[in-house]
Amino acid sequence: MFEYAPAPESRDVVDIRPSYGLFIDGEWVDSQGGELHKTVNPASEEVLAEVAWATEADVDRAVSAARKAFGVWSALPGSERAKYLFRIARIIQERSRELAVLESLDNGKPIRESRDVDLPLVAAHFFYYAGWADKLGYAGYGPSPRPLGVAGQVIPWNFPLLMLAWKIAPALACGNTVVLKPAETTPLTALLFAEICAQADLPPGVVNIVTGAGQTGAALVDHPDVDKVAFTGSTEVGRRIARSVAGSGKKVTLELGGKAANIVFEDAALDQAVEGIVNGIFFNQGHVCCAGSRLLVQESIETELLDALKRRLGTLRLGDPLDKNTDIGAINSAAQLAKIRELSDLGEAEGAERWSPACSLPDKGFWFPPTIFTGVAQSHRIAREEVFGPVLSVLTFRTPAEAVEKANNTPFGLSAGVWTEKGSRILWMASRLRAGVVWANTFNRFDPTSPFGGYKESGYGREGGRHGLEAYLDV
Ligand code: NAD
Ligand code: MG
Repeated sequence: MFEYAPAPESRDVVDIRPSYGLFIDGEWVDSQGGELHKTVNPASEEVLAEVAWATEADVDRAVSAARKAFGVWSALPGSERAKYLFRIARIIQERSRELAVLESLDNGKPIRESRDVDLPLVAAHFFYYAGWADKLGYAGYGPSPRPLGVAGQVIPWNFPLLMLAWKIAPALACGNTVVLKPAETTPLTALLFAEICAQADLPPGVVNIVTGAGQTGAALVDHPDVDKVAFTGSTEVGRRIARSVAGSGKKVTLELGGKAANIVFEDAALDQAVEGIVNGIFFNQGHVCCAGSRLLVQESIETELLDALKRRLGTLRLGDPLDKNTDIGAINSAAQLAKIRELSDLGEAEGAERWSPACSLPDKGFWFPPTIFTGVAQSHRIAREEVFGPVLSVLTFRTPAEAVEKANNTPFGLSAGVWTEKGSRILWMASRLRAGVVWANTFNRFDPTSPFGGYKESGYGREGGRHGLEAYLDV
């Protein structure tokens, strides 16, 4: 085995201010009464900056600014709005190295992923929806569909900038204005995005960024002058939001958790399937709502596949997220690490067998080794609950019908994967799997042109593609 020399990306490419206010009406303002909280690098526990936690009064200021800007923004011809979105997309490309380093610092994800996956997709999202802004009349929602007004958007910490792009790009293309709240552990790229809006000369108030935790999010979602709520995060908070906006007339999209089945048939190309399983559950430390966290493998190939998978896991490199050779970065927070540990310990206590490759964890920061559980029963909590970490539960099946039964036996329904050489079986499976996205012989593949969203407790509404416009139009 060759050892890899360190190949660190420079953190000097990004300037982090010691403290940040809120971005409201095109200006940086201090919070009225909100406290400053630290955001840390989860790989080292180093404090990166202090960020204001916006109060109800701050949220109210931001919503008023968005309301005022709505008149101007929605009255612009689509072709003019498109120019701003194209400009933002180009600036994101130009500043992508800076954004990728900042994302890896604040979130803990490997630079290889923030640089090669997150940032290209963020730019692609803005380019894609820029293209729709002057063609809304041809999207299938009538000749001149109207925007909704002010969108209140709350996003999680697993793909901070990508989730921002999923929310802001379609909202602006359709003529809405936005107040967005990033997650409390990963506010920094959203704040840099605010700078980019200013750099693009976006009219003041069209995009407002308020930082904070759950209370700030609740103040935004509950604000009476918000017309549209878009949320990505836990099913628990999603339920609370659904209750609080019920009867208010606000339009809502919820993108919640998942417990996806990644189903491997005996005729699948095994080496490709192994790569797909690794990408399905160890990409982004498993902090992925559509992660392939349940491996359903046909009984006849279980041993062969698991041997190959374990060999592959032995080659994954865990460590410094800014090292270009790193495959697995840090867990985003101490709280998330505690949750992963708790569910994994429970898996063992319930009788499943736990395995991890030999792998040394750094002393500082939040880390969890890639982990596989075999001998998992459908009733085990590790087979039912979202771990949101690098933990794979392995179950087996004999027939395609049994695979479908087991895959659908979950309260979630966000995504699924099917690995087989047989095209007709892919179609047969896809028509029976109760999941918003079904990948065939691949996994965790994203594209701005493709709609994404869930069934059942994974939420409702679609983001991405032409379908994603509907959530931001009065139709
Ligand atoms: P969370 O749902 O608490 O947080 C997501 C976002 O919602 C954050 O911005 C948070 O500040 C905000 N928020 C929290 N309470 C709110 C409220 N009452 N009203 C409005 N906004 C509120 O998720 P978490 O605590 O960060 O993670 C917990 C679990 O959620 C994870 O272990 C994982 O299972 C799941 N999760 C799923 C996704 C996803 O992409 N579907 C993302 C993050 C977390
Ligand atoms: Mg952080």
